[in-house]
Amino acid sequence: MCSGRVDLAFLIRALAHGADGVIIGGCWLGECHYVTEGNYDALANMHLGKKMLEHIGLKPERLRIEWISASEGTRFAEIMTDFSNEIRDLGPLGEIEGLDADALKAGLESVGKMVPQLKILAREKLQVQVKSEEAYTKLFENEKTIQLLDDFLADPASVAEDLPAYYIDPELCVGCQICLNKCPIQGIDGGKKTIHVIDQDVCTHCGTCFHACPPRIGAVRRITNEPIPPPIPEEERAIVKKKKPAKQP
Ligand code: SF4
Ligand code: SF4
Repeated sequence: MCSGRVDLAFLIRALAHGADGVIIGGCWLGECHYVTEGNYDALANMHLGKKMLEHIGLKPERLRIEWISASEGTRFAEIMTDFSNEIRDLGPLGEIEGLDADALKAGLESVGKMVPQLKILAREKLQVQVKSEEAYTKLFENEKTIQLLDDFLADPASVAEDLPAYYIDPELCVGCQICLNKCPIQGIDGGKKTIHVIDQDVCTHCGTCFHACPPRIGAVRRITNEPIPPPIPEEERAIVKKKKPAKQP
């Protein structure tokens, strides 16, 4: 799997399922096998993942990224041994950090829910002009970035206000419920054969519904720099199939 495919959610999920640390091995920067340079995405995810871990009181050293090409077997073995030793020294997740099982579970769940929105925040506000390891280090060590991420992790809604909003076009929604089932915070009101409506008071602007709505339908609109239309009244949300006009004899 391309290292760029290792989603932030996978990192958190691995820890929630009992891993004491996670290492990502990616191809060397600048040697991506595709045109996507996914290893830079993996690098950004690693920076974000470490911030999330710190936020819930876990040692950021429990996450690591290393560049290893397919031909570097010895390097791979050395790095894995080193990482295993480091994690063994740190001990079970949460123990050295003084987190009991409940606090650990609650912390991982809370940051896990922030992942979709954090990805949007990173896409909108944390980009480098020319990709390089130094540029990412500089970006994530920048005071403004640290403040932005601290503010986000403390209160995602405070940062969400600056992000694009999402709106379901009542003319296009077919009530398939896909977005409703994918929204990480149950922020969409709807049901079978019902026009769905986003609860703008709780929406965290994560954009999951935008990507979830099938492209052939495209009912979720991304809104920037314009007011969000008011929700369609409840009594008008039922989707009634229009009858085909009867054929003339
Ligand atoms: S309504 Fe859409 S944008 Fe808002 S939190 Fe749910 S999935 Fe994310
Ligand atoms: S995925 Fe699209 S069509 Fe389906 S309920 Fe959501 S907005 Fe409507």
